[in-house]
Amino acid sequence: MEEYCQRCGALLGKDEIGATKKLVNRGAKTFFCLDCLGESFEVSREELEGKIRYFKEMGCTVFSDEG
Ligand SMILES: [Zn+2]
Repeated sequence: MEEYCQRCGALLGKDEIGATKKLVNRGAKTFFCLDCLGESFEVSREELEGKIRYFKEMGCTVFSDEG
C-alpha cells in the first residue's frame, strides 16, 4: 500500500507515515512528508528525523507494519 503526502504529493515511507501518526494523531488517514510536517509544526527536518529515531528506539509501533 502506497501513501502520498497530502500536501505536495511525495511518495511516503514508513518513517513519514509514523511521524504523521505521532505528531498529528495516531488514527491519521492522511499523511505528510517530513518537509511538509516540519512546515506545519514549525520544526526543522533534522529535528523530525531526531524524533523519529527517538520513537524507534523507544520501540514505538507506528514505525513498524503492525503500527
Ligand atoms: Zn509534502
